[in-house]
Amino acid sequence: MNRLERVYGAGGGAVSALRGVTLDLPRQAMTVVMGPSGSGKSTLLHCAAGLDKPSAGTVHLGAHELTAMSETELTVLRREQIGFVFQSFNLIASLTAAQNVALPLRLAGIKAERNRVEQALALVGLGDQAGRLPAALSGGQQQRVALARALITRPQVIFGDEPTGALDTSNARRVLELLRRAVDEWAQTVIMVTHDPVAASFADSVVFLADGQVADIITAPTADRVAKRMTELERVS
Ligand code: ADP
Ligand code: MG
Repeated sequence: MNRLERVYGAGGGAVSALRGVTLDLPRQAMTVVMGPSGSGKSTLLHCAAGLDKPSAGTVHLGAHELTAMSETELTVLRREQIGFVFQSFNLIASLTAAQNVALPLRLAGIKAERNRVEQALALVGLGDQAGRLPAALSGGQQQRVALARALITRPQVIFGDEPTGALDTSNARRVLELLRRAVDEWAQTVIMVTHDPVAASFADSVVFLADGQVADIITAPTADRVAKRMTELERVS
């Protein structure tokens, strides 16, 4: 992405959420985005995923320039090449775990083979919960259903906005290990917002935002280095 800007609102009340962000998010790698609350992390993720239109600048995803695409083209691209995992799971309450996982396939007009759905659920350790409704699953299990749903179309890029934010340590670790496998074994790209330095240590690099701008990038992060940098950034902002 190049010189990305996103202004919310107009006139005196306008808020500049992104103020000239230029970033190269490498493929087949896990990049974590961190920064103080309100620094523009979610806005950046939404612009990178084609969920939001920047006010200025360009976003490329592989050969596609997202910022030049129509809403219809973006919908197709998101369906075929992008997976999402949010902090609040976003499962459909009236559908079973298996039906939730099968949804992206159905939306893409791919026949949801039972086998494929079962495999995706088994992968996240929920092979025996396929028939359950979200309400009958724990938060950690629901997040893993959401992850199976994000993985099932084998998207090129998986975006996560605090996907482990609501999870206990062991469920968070499971989700992070799966995201790591998506990169290392299945050649996918993961871009994830988190507040957790331990989660960030699973990444290949960490981008720090402050006040809508890139403040720093750390490669091969350790939890200690990330925590230290976070504290420094929170102090100045
Ligand atoms: P983060 O995810 O880092 O907490 P956000 O990207 O959500 O930050 O927000 C960045 C800035 O943009 C904040 O000042 C926030 O209040 C503002 N903002 C975000 N979304 C909107 C919106 N829909 N309308 C107006 N302002 C918004
Ligand atoms: Mg946010």
